[in-house]
Amino acid sequence: MSKVLVIGAGGVGSVAVHKMAMNPDIFSDIHLASRTVSKCEAIGESVKQRTGVTISTYAIDADDVAATSALIREIGPELVVNLALPYQDLAIMDACLATGVNYMDTANYEPKDVAKFEYHWQWAYQERFKEAGLTALLGSGFDPGVTSVFAMWLKKHKLKTIRLLDILDCNGGDHGQAFATNFNPEINIREVTAPARHWENGQFVETPAMSNKQAFDFEQVGPKNMYMMYHEELESLAKFLPEMERGRFWMTFGDEYIKHLTVLQNVGMTRIDPVIYNGVEIIPLQFLKAVLPEPSSLGATTKGKTNIGDIATGEALDGSGEKTFYIKNICDHEECYEETGNQAVSYTTGVPAMVGAAMLLTKKWEGAGVFNMEQFDPDPFLAMLGDQGLPWTVEELAEPLAF
Ligand code: NDP
Repeated sequence: MSKVLVIGAGGVGSVAVHKMAMNPDIFSDIHLASRTVSKCEAIGESVKQRTGVTISTYAIDADDVAATSALIREIGPELVVNLALPYQDLAIMDACLATGVNYMDTANYEPKDVAKFEYHWQWAYQERFKEAGLTALLGSGFDPGVTSVFAMWLKKHKLKTIRLLDILDCNGGDHGQAFATNFNPEINIREVTAPARHWENGQFVETPAMSNKQAFDFEQVGPKNMYMMYHEELESLAKFLPEMERGRFWMTFGDEYIKHLTVLQNVGMTRIDPVIYNGVEIIPLQFLKAVLPEPSSLGATTKGKTNIGDIATGEALDGSGEKTFYIKNICDHEECYEETGNQAVSYTTGVPAMVGAAMLLTKKWEGAGVFNMEQFDPDPFLAMLGDQGLPWTVEELAEPLAF
């Protein structure tokens, strides 16, 4: 029976709060705060209608550490779940330290002026959380999040070592728009336009954005083109799987998406440095976000499935030589919308956020300091994930990926 404060009322926050309300034995008292309080209230109404649970709502600018600390003191939660944007991570961690409360998020800190997704800013909080006897759990979404737990599950139950690891993220959903992003457009476009980086023989190797394209036939979705790109879990996986020779991350994009993105990049609309427009400083990418559809508005029209998983090759635990396993979840956009009013990209992030919070509140995962998902027992997390709407399967493949 625990009190939790969620910060951020976007698609991910909405799913997480709905799923918390569906688990009242763990989340007995739910508080939701965000920049725009009307979004919290709309989520609160939906939660009440779907589950009968009443949540409390607040307006907060989470960049303001003093205001966030005051709100945390007023509410007195056991855990703050940060589902705002990566820019707020450090400010919310500071507020948690100031008030003596545990912390969790789904994306690593990024400064606004450079698209650099790296853990070092948050890992630098290790001693402070440890000394305070508090837990900070980083990256409890799907990717990062479940993808790391999948790798650790394979390492616990199937493979003694993981030599090759590929994370494959396919969104086979169609929202009927010429161009839209499935989560926050600013964060999404910063991620896909950044140079690709993969782990190979002890270091990151950088290649131009979207320059490595491969075709892959995804179960229940069909053949898709996927592109190698950098994703933040590669950094924590390289740290916690020191034996890994090669780690790569792939994401599917349709030709229409690539065409629009190429034009937007070529004309400068994805820039994150300020430009003067009519005497006012604007950031082109932030302006672009303002004219693109809100990801949360895509739920009602999105059809199709997501298919996200890990393919890992390494020495089998049972001594039978080198083996390859594929562990994944397939999720249906329309089913997610029916259950929570949000599409599958928000759902596949919000459910693991709720499960990560449940692991901390039930003390199945505990410790003082800053933790990545790889550092805890994968079994209770994946058991609950399956029960809570994201079932997963594991199969042995005849051979490693051919590319
Ligand atoms: P949205 O943009 O839909 O929602 C973000 C919410 O945070 C909005 O309600 C926004 O408020 C609020 N917010 C922004 N700035 C502040 C602030 N300073 N103070 C308080 N609230 C603020 O994003 P998503 O829901 O799609 O994503 C949420 C998080 O999840 C992001 O960090 C994203 O990177 C991460 N994510 C992780 C994934 C994973 O698999 N690990 C996958 C997808 C997303 P307002 O409404 O006023 O703008």
